Amino acid sequence: CDSLESCDPEIYDLIELEKKRQFYSLELIASENFTSRACLEALGSVLTNKYSEGLPGMRYYGGNEVIDEIENLCKKRCLEAFELDPSKWGVNVQSYSGSTANFSVYTALLKPFDRLMGLDLPHGGHLSHGFQTSKKKISSSSIYFTSMPYQTDPKTGLIDYNKLEESADLFRPNLIICGASAYPRDWDFQRFRKIADRHEAYLVMDMAHTSGLIAAKQANNPFDYCDVITSTTHKTLRGPRAGIIFYRKPVSETEKFLSDLESRINFAVFPSCQGGPHNHQIASIAVAMKQVSLPEFKDYIVQVKKNAVALANSLISLGYRLVTGGTDNHCILWDLRPLGLTGSKLEKLCEKVSISLNKNSVPKDTSALSPGGVRIGTPALTSRGFKETDFVEVAEFLHRAVHLCLEIQVETGKALPCFLKALENNPKLNALKTAVE
Ligand code: PLP
Repeated sequence: CDSLESCDPEIYDLIELEKKRQFYSLELIASENFTSRACLEALGSVLTNKYSEGLPGMRYYGGNEVIDEIENLCKKRCLEAFELDPSKWGVNVQSYSGSTANFSVYTALLKPFDRLMGLDLPHGGHLSHGFQTSKKKISSSSIYFTSMPYQTDPKTGLIDYNKLEESADLFRPNLIICGASAYPRDWDFQRFRKIADRHEAYLVMDMAHTSGLIAAKQANNPFDYCDVITSTTHKTLRGPRAGIIFYRKPVSETEKFLSDLESRINFAVFPSCQGGPHNHQIASIAVAMKQVSLPEFKDYIVQVKKNAVALANSLISLGYRLVTGGTDNHCILWDLRPLGLTGSKLEKLCEKVSISLNKNSVPKDTSALSPGGVRIGTPALTSRGFKETDFVEVAEFLHRAVHLCLEIQVETGKALPCFLKALENNPKLNALKTAVE
């Protein structure tokens, strides 16, 4: 059979349902975006059929002339998108995702049980930055390496650089990773570099969330200070789901002898951590990077930031508390604890009224399962053309959602299962759902 619709109507129908969900809902998940039709076409292409272990010109399979051209073009465009000099920076575009890119970097730069410091997950960090709880090592980055997370200041919500420096003096890290999944402010890379240099540690930036802002020069530039920079390509870069790794090239023969990041990173990605590259993803990254280099992309990112400020200011003027009091980027962390609500409840209620956001811990949270806040981002709706006035309206929808949450909580009491039961077919939600859609 030929088309998906005739070959597998069950999957076809489910994809159509998801398309409808994405079309009708307000997509506020900070890590999501809408990729372009061109990126989707590359993803759904015959490139998925090809094996190409190795690097361009050095493959373990025949028939890779075209694939080599695609991968080389992708790398060139990645460097151009971030205005990097190819004699100083290289890039590997084969990582299947952001987490595997990070693990490949640790594999390249560390020995088993070497010491790694990343922002703690409850403070906005990512799992792959060494996450562990007091009871269990969760991420492979804490299982195979020794992790000591740094944190934000509970009062300000900002990274506590002084504490980080003190802890680093005790822990003597081999690698410090900056970057986060839920941190609404920019990064002081110069300070990180100074701390890393005290211990001759590698400095790595995971710019997964802010890479679009960095490419558009709307955020501090990690390339001035870091040794290695990783990113996903599906968030603010608006490409396919994948990961990329930039590495500093040696400037002298001695440096090459001491630290050849290029061969270590490439070897870590393949054969250490991965098998054959996903060529359809790589072609799609190339398409996304071409778009990132256009002037329209900068306009998009400027609007993403303006929208985040508009949304933050509207929520503040409605009386709500945001962690750090606002945002410098695309992301807002909304502290619901003063309202007596949890992030899980607001997330679930929003889902019922076609608003997508996610629960998130906020500083001083005691439970990761039932955190006290939600994370909201503006990249996806900005891709759909939303401007500041639209985000003022989004804030009003969220305000209505909070009020419904509080009303239902008064009826059901605080227990989550009773609250969730009360959401099922609750007629109180209809008016908001209709307004949102
Ligand atoms: N790094 C950061 C900072 C992230 O926020 C994420 C995902 O949200 C990742 C890495 C992981 O990316 P992936 O889901 O592609 O593995």
